[in-house]
Amino acid sequence: MSLQAAPWALITGTNGKTTTCHLLAEILRDKRSCEICGNSGISVCRSLLDKGPNVMRVVEASSFQLKFSRRMKPDVAVLLNLSPNHLDWHPTLRDYYEAKVKVIRWLLAECALVFNAGDARLEREAGRARCRRMSFGSEAESPGVCFKSGRLVIRRGANRHVILRFRSIALKGEHNRRNVEAAAAAALCLGASTQSIAKAVGAFKPLVHRIEDVGAYGGVSFVNDSKSTTARSTAAALEAVGKNVILMAGGIAKEKRYRDLVPELKKRVDRVVLYGRSAPFLDRELSGFDARTVCSGFEEAFRAAAAGARKGQTVLLSPMCSSFDQFKSFEERGEAFRRLVRKVRTSS
Ligand code: ADP
Repeated sequence: MSLQAAPWALITGTNGKTTTCHLLAEILRDKRSCEICGNSGISVCRSLLDKGPNVMRVVEASSFQLKFSRRMKPDVAVLLNLSPNHLDWHPTLRDYYEAKVKVIRWLLAECALVFNAGDARLEREAGRARCRRMSFGSEAESPGVCFKSGRLVIRRGANRHVILRFRSIALKGEHNRRNVEAAAAAALCLGASTQSIAKAVGAFKPLVHRIEDVGAYGGVSFVNDSKSTTARSTAAALEAVGKNVILMAGGIAKEKRYRDLVPELKKRVDRVVLYGRSAPFLDRELSGFDARTVCSGFEEAFRAAAAGARKGQTVLLSPMCSSFDQFKSFEERGEAFRRLVRKVRTSS
């Protein structure tokens, strides 16, 4: 017996889960009530108890939750991307990936799978799915959803709809194109119209602590990306911000290797300021990039980043590590950053 009567979606992957959950829920809310639960917001049980079985649900699933789950049957499952994460908890990288991709094996013929065709592992795994599939993230304009020349294009059978321009929406960065594509594809699988997609994505406001603009003082911009806890998500933030970045990163590293980020640092970053428990490890991993400053406390790191910043530069907090050595959560870390930025404002 299923406790959930209305259709529901499960969203997982290494990065972009929360953003994609919110995008999808906003699209679905154009026509029906919809609640976000699981790893984002309230628990699935709380949501069922409070609102009953007839609201649509978008469930964010972490690798920890999936690792201990034996079976689920979402109407649509979304696999966003896979990159190393949580290696301080999963015994191996394989164990981490397996926790995510096993979702594909749960899907029966009546379900749908939305997957990132730009991720070789996910494409391979999706080939084994027993249900209908819709891909995103591919350069080719295949059936499904993709951005082509900056416009979101949906292809279903012989029909082709161009529904919005990426430049006209508030989300920035290549990674957010992928998140929009994934949410739009999942919405289509759940019966949403192209109008609902265009309306909700067009009105979407970026979530706090994710590449969040927190002001510009004396020509220096400050961006809070406290939610970034992996090297991949920091690379995404650097791509979105552009160039002339002073990057603040640190906390507790969850990955064993950060040196692959060095080419991206050379392209976009003027200085990296490292702090927190993993600072000495990060300093070794990033030694291929010369302009490094190592601090211990967060505030000290902020001062080092802000004091050296010149007009036209952006101080970006994108820690690529968890926050628990100095904060209770990534939200508290982001708040601390905002508070320090406010002090710069009042003293400038
Ligand atoms: P999650 O819930 O999976 O942690 P979020 O939507 O909260 O994902 O975004 C967390 C961080 O990951 C953001 O601050 C951004 O830097 C980065 N990010 C978001 N979407 C993606 C993506 N599709 N690929 C890579 N990085 C991403």
